[in-house]
Amino acid sequence: MRFLASLFALALLSQVQAAPFGASDSLTRRAPSVTRVCGTEPSAQKVADIESRFQSERRDPTAQAEPFAVSVVWHVITDGTEGALSDATIAAQLDVLQQGFGSGYVFTTSSVNRVDNPTWFTGIDGSSDTSGSVAYDMKKSTRTGDAMTLNVWSVKFTNGLLGYATFPSEYSRRPEVDGVVILYSSFPGGTTAPYDLGQTVTHEVGHWVGLYHTFQGGCNGQGDGVDDTPAQGRPTSGCPARADTCPRKPGDDPIHNFMDYSTDICLTEFTPGQYTRAASFMTTYRVGK
Ligand SMILES: [Zn+2]
Repeated sequence: MRFLASLFALALLSQVQAAPFGASDSLTRRAPSVTRVCGTEPSAQKVADIESRFQSERRDPTAQAEPFAVSVVWHVITDGTEGALSDATIAAQLDVLQQGFGSGYVFTTSSVNRVDNPTWFTGIDGSSDTSGSVAYDMKKSTRTGDAMTLNVWSVKFTNGLLGYATFPSEYSRRPEVDGVVILYSSFPGGTTAPYDLGQTVTHEVGHWVGLYHTFQGGCNGQGDGVDDTPAQGRPTSGCPARADTCPRKPGDDPIHNFMDYSTDICLTEFTPGQYTRAASFMTTYRVGK
């Protein structure tokens, strides 16, 4: 299903890219408009399981616990010269990530691991990290560090994905696949405009610290588990002036939130509620693990 959804989204992406920037109006479309394509779209059941575990295991940070010090290992997967991100591009990406998260986190590059492996470069579809898959092979062979080590693999998805991530609560059971996988051309200065400013990494690391999409669950129910992100019925397409996909609920859609699907230039913020949630997830599942 996810693969089909990705293909559908890719088709929409093509339409949006053909239109002038910002010209699409999500409110006038009949079908859900998806532009950013993230592979981290947990089912309602998976969200319920994560939230249930979190309620019983939750530990909140002490004032002294922050900022969270995160070591970053960049695995630059290539096919010959294709995908060979420069050290300068990686440094620029680190800056974008740091600026997005602000002073509550300190991201530091600990190493850059360059691996020429065409199978890994184009063989990952984001659908499965189970044993025997290309993604599992890549991650198992290369992942380093502990739960506070952010492993970033840059690859060339061929199905329209920009990235996908694991959640903190998954670390204890499957530490070998923990991290984020990113389309290499979404790094700053890449060729995947309007997703070429590096906010795909910020978005995926948002999942890695415990955040869902702002449109998780749609207009009703628990949504993304964060009180100060207004209810959102569907992902934002492009960068509209405003949107309100849940008109019966308070607030406009959080179109500038890093956990929406807007274009890179549109994404500028996490909310205080997201910082609080992420800090609790980090404390419960990553710090000291
Ligand atoms: Zn996502």
